Amino acid sequence: MEENKYICPKCGSEMIAIYEKPALNLTCPNCGCKITTTKWDDIDLDDTDFEIIIEPVSNPSIKQIKFISNFSGLNFINSKKILSEGGSLLIDKAVEIKEKISLLKKADIRFIISPDFPY
Ligand SMILES: [Zn+2]
Repeated sequence: MEENKYICPKCGSEMIAIYEKPALNLTCPNCGCKITTTKWDDIDLDDTDFEIIIEPVSNPSIKQIKFISNFSGLNFINSKKILSEGGSLLIDKAVEIKEKISLLKKADIRFIISPDFPY
């Protein structure tokens, strides 16, 4: 995951972030300003590995197969196989999973997420 950048509200320098769950302690190396925050979106804090599992479709379209191939890096045959037989597509953290879900939905691909995805 990319690290977020935090800018000091007093002097505009980039702050040093030290993460002590559930708090984030920010210190400015320039002026010494300190901020502690625990206000996070739950999804940012979620360290769960979620798995996207494709639901089998009897006749995956070429479009769907190509999408899976691009999406996952699988070749055409394996992409077709995962669509027609179902199976695990990928495992990732909540923030990444959320992005990928929207792509899969756009491509009209049916899937389930394990464990239940609360976001
Ligand atoms: Zn500062």
